[in-house]
Amino acid sequence: MTDRNLVTPAENTWCPGCGNFSIEFALKAVISDLVRGGQSLDEIVLVTGIGCHAKMADYLNINSFYSLHGRTIPAATGIKLANPKLKVICCAGDGDCYAEGLDHLIFAAKRNIDISVIIHNNRVYGLTTGQYTPTSPLGFRGRSTPGGTTELPINPLELMLASGATFVARGYTRKMEQLRSLVMQGLAHRGFSFIDLLQICATYNNTTDYYNEHVYDLENHDISSFEDAFTKAREWDYNADARIALGLFYQHVMPTYEDRVFAHPPDNTDRLKGIEEILQKKM
Ligand code: SF4
Ligand code: MG
Repeated sequence: MTDRNLVTPAENTWCPGCGNFSIEFALKAVISDLVRGGQSLDEIVLVTGIGCHAKMADYLNINSFYSLHGRTIPAATGIKLANPKLKVICCAGDGDCYAEGLDHLIFAAKRNIDISVIIHNNRVYGLTTGQYTPTSPLGFRGRSTPGGTTELPINPLELMLASGATFVARGYTRKMEQLRSLVMQGLAHRGFSFIDLLQICATYNNTTDYYNEHVYDLENHDISSFEDAFTKAREWDYNADARIALGLFYQHVMPTYEDRVFAHPPDNTDRLKGIEEILQKKM
């Protein structure tokens, strides 16, 4: 098993310099490591949304499901519940998962379903040529906002922590070793893992210089402290001078959604009886 086995013959159409290449590289490396360690490749499934990120399903030679825009999480949830043995990875975009798919993301975190969500957060709609997304900075000029956005961006880490996510991390596509490590840790986590990846969009939002100047690695950080994680997540506020922490912010192990669903299978008998009684009365 080599990384080469994981590549399909599909022509790669990402722009030169796109951060998606780093994410593909990290995923290949991590999946190869897992398979070498005994994980069955047949039991890994990738779910993508719609956007530049979604081509990952074309390029990685693994079981995959190309879902609808914003709908990676419901598809992944269904796959996981149908076969809890599967390791389910969701790759989604910021426009994909923080806009149309936001409610699904919040509920997946709340449920602690055992899936790994990797957000290719380039803070722009790349595939549709440069419209603003929920994480675009204030004043962002793009196709749909030529005069600059008048909205402040959301803070995905803060949102995920508040929603109950049990693994919350942030990486950057120009920091490969850390990116690979975070993906490996996220996939190893039992429960809902969330990684917000600051991804360079070389064509419509090239923030490389800005990130290079502002990112730093979390050190001596207590990943078991929700309060510390929240404080660090809030550090990168709307101020352009703020520092941007990278690494694992928070990890907490607790029963998963599947644990609860399968430990207490719903007993429909009484419910159906109730419905039958109501119907009888109406007749
Ligand atoms: Fe990557 Fe941006 Fe090109 Fe899409 S438009 S492939 S995100 S560089
Ligand atoms: Mg995007």
